[in-house]
Amino acid sequence: MILKGFEVLQEFLSSPKNIVIIGHRNPDGDAIGSTLALHFYLKKKKHRTRVLVPNDFPEFLKWLPQSDKILRFDKQNAQSMNALMKSDLVFLLDFNALHRVGSDMGSTLAEYSNDFALIDHHLQPDDFKYMYSDTSISSTCQMVYQFIEMNNDLDLIDERIATCLYTGIMTDTGSFRFRSTTSRTHRILADLIDKGAVNHRIHNNVYDANSYGRLSLLGRALNNLYILQEFSTAFIVISQQDKDECNFEKGDTEGVVNYALSAKDVVFAAIFIEDVEQKIVKISFRSKGTFSVNEFARNYFDGGGHTNAAGGRSEVSLEETVTRFKSLLPNYKTQLLESYNEN
Ligand code: 5GP
Ligand code: MN
Repeated sequence: MILKGFEVLQEFLSSPKNIVIIGHRNPDGDAIGSTLALHFYLKKKKHRTRVLVPNDFPEFLKWLPQSDKILRFDKQNAQSMNALMKSDLVFLLDFNALHRVGSDMGSTLAEYSNDFALIDHHLQPDDFKYMYSDTSISSTCQMVYQFIEMNNDLDLIDERIATCLYTGIMTDTGSFRFRSTTSRTHRILADLIDKGAVNHRIHNNVYDANSYGRLSLLGRALNNLYILQEFSTAFIVISQQDKDECNFEKGDTEGVVNYALSAKDVVFAAIFIEDVEQKIVKISFRSKGTFSVNEFARNYFDGGGHTNAAGGRSEVSLEETVTRFKSLLPNYKTQLLESYNEN
């Protein structure tokens, strides 16, 4: 755990400030939940805040309170630049390095002259003036709860904050099943329910809001699932054509990689998603146990993340990417077969 400059930050925040709160590119439930929750909390502390993200986020998060007020750097560039220019401090939530917001916004932030405060649970964070980094915590939303707790402000958590935090913890823990889900996580969730998070409604809004297109794409994904038993590995391939034929919308492939990981005895799963517009193949990796997909994604696919959940990209064709992936597996055979033994 790294806690850097916390008391100085507390002092800095003891009078009203202009604050911008930023989530990563392709924001997920934890990024949107944590940025909105921190925004509501800091507003209660009399600060002026704006939430800013690099690009669009999935429909299944658009019911969250004030999610319609989130600024998008790609669409509302002038407003975003203006908010940044006026700000005294920028919070960076749910990512570990400036490049994770994409190159346009990343280069703007690289020139930012005031200070950054990071709250994040990803491995290998860059250095910022204020930092609260803990890779053992389930989600940035859990960290925002603990940040509020460190400020002795748990009584300020209202229904909106509780709803946002519950959502991010739920999505980042695969609905409370990943290893990072501890008794502490469950105690925090219980408190969030007491403070007004309507848990069945949140699950319904996020998980039972599938469009016909998303379900069709899931059907394709399951048809394109390959299991490589000798490496305890499974992967899914989704082509641009699959996406086009299923009226693809952002967020439609979210979580689909977990179907590959759900195959019996599989400890390493990947999904390869062709993106013709960006000229890349976007990849998600998941693992069970000690096999680090963070290392794998960093070493071969220009990515990173956590030990058991990471992402990356490839700039060669879908077929070549899959061939390359398969060719790497023999080097990891022992590690893969031992990954989920006795832990
Ligand atoms: P997902 O596969 O759901 O997109 O991402 C899984 C985890 O890996 C998330 O915590 C995400 O922040 C991280 N991640 C995804 N893509 C990248 C990437 O290209 N680079 C890095 N460093 N992390 C990524
Ligand atoms: Mn997260």
